[in-house]
Amino acid sequence: MSDASDAEVLVVGAGAAGLFAAIAAAREAPGLRVAALDGARTLGAKILVSGGGRCNVTNARVTPADFWRPASGHLRHALGAFGVEATRSFFAGRGVPLHQEEEGKLFPDSGRARSVLDALLGEARERGVALHVGQRVVALDRDAGGFRATTAGGACFASRTVVLATGGRSLPKSGSDGGGYALARGLGHSLIEPVPALEPLLLAEEGPHAGLSGLALAVELTARPPGAAIVRVRRPLLFTHFGISGPAALDVSRFWRRARAEGADAPIALSLLPDLDFGRAESWLLDEARRRPRARPAALLATRMPERVALAFAARSGATAPLARLARESRRALLHALLATPLPVVGGRGWNHAEVTSGGVPLSEVEAPTLRSRTCPGLYLAGEILDVDGRLGGFNFQWAWSSAFLAGRAAGREAAAGG
Ligand SMILES: Cc1cc2nc3c(=O)[nH]c(=O)nc-3n(C[C@H](O)[C@H](O)[C@H](O)COP(=O)(O)OP(=O)(O)OC[C@H]3O[C@@H](n4cnc5c(N)ncnc54)[C@H](O)[C@@H]3O)c2cc1C
Repeated sequence: MSDASDAEVLVVGAGAAGLFAAIAAAREAPGLRVAALDGARTLGAKILVSGGGRCNVTNARVTPADFWRPASGHLRHALGAFGVEATRSFFAGRGVPLHQEEEGKLFPDSGRARSVLDALLGEARERGVALHVGQRVVALDRDAGGFRATTAGGACFASRTVVLATGGRSLPKSGSDGGGYALARGLGHSLIEPVPALEPLLLAEEGPHAGLSGLALAVELTARPPGAAIVRVRRPLLFTHFGISGPAALDVSRFWRRARAEGADAPIALSLLPDLDFGRAESWLLDEARRRPRARPAALLATRMPERVALAFAARSGATAPLARLARESRRALLHALLATPLPVVGGRGWNHAEVTSGGVPLSEVEAPTLRSRTCPGLYLAGEILDVDGRLGGFNFQWAWSSAFLAGRAAGREAAAGG
């Protein structure tokens, strides 16, 4: 059953990627009937909470290496077709100029995520995109004539082409609860098990976070995923009552989760002296022992980190004697505590606290230049539903814009050509 809701490009899921895909399709072929359906009652919940309510729209420099699938040609294609400059210019053109902050993060000058959402909604409406809220798609069927989407309320929307942009599973209350995976599967796709990514990590009670809640410092975290190279992340870390948070923890969390999903482990270790390797750190300790022989290790460490952290790590290592009287083993124990404390990770904070999803529809199942499905003609996928996740800093939204541009443009072209 089809009705007046028929479209030539139907976007399922109107988050960041879905809205942008609808815009790209409408820009590609003006006059094309483009519609977008979203299960949520109001659009853009995730955009509004992003970046602490300020929306970190992208980053000054985005390359495939900022994602955990750097070898994939898909990222190269997407970033090449619609990269950072295109993103800046799109938002500036809608009256939302971006400025750069620390680590290259780009935010709207307005300081409000709302202006980013308004820019997307304004452009979509001006280009005639029909936006339907409260329309959760529960079935997506394909026949010779095209697609038919059925919503939870029983409405049907028919369309020649579909862009599936239902996101992943992070922040389910925003409407992204993984329901779109079943739609992709029903059209012949497989799934790499989705796990939370960019999430705070829970440590066992005896972990080094005990008593340090609220303290932040620059660290290096290393993760050792099974059968892969060591991952090193140098960024700020925040100790919390449950374990660790902050950019360093969020960035390595996906390796721990992915390993667990595969029945393995990816041990994570902490260095409080990210600029020093073992040899240089030992030379530093020995030099300082000559310069200030009566100083205690904790006092020396406090010159490079918050005092409570210095005290806690010196105590953990058992190195409490004055520097000049520190035996070799004590010095080595101190160095080990400073440079390679294993973190007893027992879990992550889960979907309600994860910023993105690792896993999803494999990139091998979509064509790199268009993100057209290899299993289902007329179907395109964009955004977080695909198996792409980036590090913290605006990279995940850039994937949403870039992938949506490819998918929306190609869907628009196909619909226009076949019309
Ligand atoms: C708290 C938080 C802060 C973040 N901050 C940043 C940041 O500052 N910078 C950054 O780059 N990234 C950030 N991210 C990540 C970023 O928000 C996501 O990568 C991005 O939103 C993914 O876009 P998407 O459109 O693919 O998915 P989503 O934004 O999740 O949108 C999917 C949409 O599909 C709809 N939907 C789902 N299933 C159905 C269905 N069956 N039928 C109809 N509609 C459906 C949902 O309601 C939703 O609107 C943050 C994430 C969170 C949770």
